[in-house]
Amino acid sequence: MNAVASLPVVRGSYTEHAPLKNLVWFRAGGAADILFRPADLEDLCAFVAAKPADLPVTVIGVGSNLLIRDGGIPGVVIRLPSSFGKIEKIDGTHLRAGAAALDAAVARAAADAGIAGLEFLRGIPGTIGGALMMNAGCYGTETKDVFVKARAIDSTGKVITLGPDDMGFTYRHSKPQGLIYIDAVLKGTLGEPEAIRARMEALVTQRESTQPVRSKTGGSTFTNPPGHKAWQLIDQSGCRGLMHGAAQMSEKHCNFLINTGDATATDIEALGEDVRARVKAKFGVALEWEIKRIGRAKETAE
Ligand SMILES: Cc1cc2nc3c(=O)[nH]c(=O)nc-3n(C[C@H](O)[C@H](O)[C@H](O)COP(=O)(O)OP(=O)(O)OC[C@H]3O[C@@H](n4cnc5c(N)ncnc54)[C@H](O)[C@@H]3O)c2cc1C
Repeated sequence: MNAVASLPVVRGSYTEHAPLKNLVWFRAGGAADILFRPADLEDLCAFVAAKPADLPVTVIGVGSNLLIRDGGIPGVVIRLPSSFGKIEKIDGTHLRAGAAALDAAVARAAADAGIAGLEFLRGIPGTIGGALMMNAGCYGTETKDVFVKARAIDSTGKVITLGPDDMGFTYRHSKPQGLIYIDAVLKGTLGEPEAIRARMEALVTQRESTQPVRSKTGGSTFTNPPGHKAWQLIDQSGCRGLMHGAAQMSEKHCNFLINTGDATATDIEALGEDVRARVKAKFGVALEWEIKRIGRAKETAE
């Protein structure tokens, strides 16, 4: 049966068996059963309100923290179009950014508007939706530090507003699940554009010298366990540069998994699990994945 026939009529587009490989940083993994690109907010709300209750729905940003397994993602995958990426200054210290806005674009817009404190976003290659979900951060600042409020679509298709207490931000985690973020209001402090830009550029330079930011990667693979640095445990377990197929623990930053060529998601995940086992055996510490692994394993049966 045509899977799309059971879905609500929308103004946006449905694509069946849509490859997702080129929509994620790892450049690996399977297809979405159906990829939905909503036309606008109203279209997205109507879709959520009318979709079959048992239909799995997955939202993706720009896939900088995602490993999509080789068997693909069941149900509908939503990728917000650029119309959800508007960034607007509200006043001297606040701006509103759509969930599809790139963090780097938000940092640049804040600098142009003379809003200081959002410089850290310049170095995170995701979207505001992903930053809300992951409480993304670097160099001592996290999304929670600049967060004022967010709007999201709940499971009934209604737009709700969430404040800091609703978000329950912790290290690389936020509490709400099953929501589709649509925008957020972020705050900084009054600043001087040139000085903000200079700080931003310094962050970029520092990052490029320590991380494989031009590789096919998912960023930090594992969160830092309490009292430890994940990269040190990985290094001291002999895993720097370790390979599985074309997947490798980066030589440059050994908590980054990289796809050196045509690694499959299965290779990448297997290498990550191998590293976890080696660290556990050597230090008794169970590393937790920071990268979200989603979708079905590839079927091996003929
Ligand atoms: C080179 C590199 C460097 C990185 N450095 C950092 C760093 O310094 N600090 C850091 O914190 N992270 C870092 N990351 C990881 C990543 O960039 C962040 O986690 C980012 O916030 C993910 O955003 P995304 O749009 O790519 O989300 P995706 O990877 O597409 O998705 C991540 C999660 O967010 C959810 N999500 C995305 N959009 C929405 C939405 N609109 N509504 C609801 N849920 C949504 C997805 O369902 C998924 O669960 C790095 C990654 C790379 C590749």
